[in-house]
Amino acid sequence: MEPKPIHRLADEVVNRVAAGEVIHRPASALKEILENSLDAGATSIVVTVKDGGNKLLQVTDNGCGIREADLPILCERHTTSKLSKFEDLSAMSTFGFRGEALASISFVANLTVTTMTRGATHALKASYCDGALDGGGARPCAGNPGTTITVENLFYNVPTRRKALKSPHEEFAKVLDVVQRYASSRTDVAFTCRKHGEARPSLHCAVTPHRIDRLRAIYGSQVARELTPMTLTGDADGDGDRAAEYSVDALVSTAGYHSRRTTFILFINDRLVECAPLRRACEAVYSAILPKAEKPFAYLSLRLPPHTLDVNVHPTKREVAFLRQDEVVERVQRALERRLVEANGSRTFAVGA
Ligand code: ADP
Ligand code: MG
Repeated sequence: MEPKPIHRLADEVVNRVAAGEVIHRPASALKEILENSLDAGATSIVVTVKDGGNKLLQVTDNGCGIREADLPILCERHTTSKLSKFEDLSAMSTFGFRGEALASISFVANLTVTTMTRGATHALKASYCDGALDGGGARPCAGNPGTTITVENLFYNVPTRRKALKSPHEEFAKVLDVVQRYASSRTDVAFTCRKHGEARPSLHCAVTPHRIDRLRAIYGSQVARELTPMTLTGDADGDGDRAAEYSVDALVSTAGYHSRRTTFILFINDRLVECAPLRRACEAVYSAILPKAEKPFAYLSLRLPPHTLDVNVHPTKREVAFLRQDEVVERVQRALERRLVEANGSRTFAVGA
């Protein structure tokens, strides 16, 4: 066959393709927006959703706001206030670092940002399309310190993606799931999630010092009643110094918990991630003690020394890689086994029931 000529793709095509890797559906846009709010130091986050987020996804936070001077480049690709040098990647404490999220959203939806820094006399409202600030620039308006991100008509220009979206009901469930997971982790932040036009929020939880209280507020007292704490520490890089320890802090369901579906919430260094081997290892422990149709609930927070963790292995940062994964997984599995046997032996553990 004859080789075809190679040509350079137009920026617009490149950007829309790249956006597709980060933003799959309303829930993935929401994840990025929530992480930005948390990176901005917000202590209160309110999410409003219309038609499962297909029509409208709005997040209001009380974080630090965005400087007026930064608004023109806010939604360009690779503009960020978080990462400067490549070396910084080895110790990122923020969720974001690539400056891809807002840009991606602006390439596949109508994006409006209202923001006010502390001490400013007014807020500023700016609309973005394809990475650029709309012609008129940012306009002053009334507001409160913090930022509101409004995403409308997701995938208006990507018909295949739009058609692949599930019903508003199902998309809303995925959006709510993301909020619930972050709310499980960040007990220092108040979260509200509501459907547009409904007075009663689907989720509302105030700041609390105790994770068990937070999980009760999110998942209900029937779940919380059956959870037991599990902790674990170990050597993360194998050279025996205490500075490189990993730790696991978990709340896991015991044999008294009844559910048709597994809920497995994993945070590694405060990032919401998936780790299939760890999940499988935990499920194996449960399948040995639970009747076949019963599934567990587990919240696990794994803390690793930053130098043993690579956060940049997946476009949505959903997966991470870390050193000695097999060993960590095995130790968690054994600890879980032990914990469940203990809990079964004495039903007196009841955490804050
Ligand atoms: P990243 O988070 O990787 O830096 P984003 O595209 O998600 O990239 O955001 C770009 C920049 O916009 C951030 O670095 C941050 O400075 C700013 N930003 C985004 N959302 C908020 C927010 N809710 N509050 C304050 N600043 C924000
Ligand atoms: Mg971000």
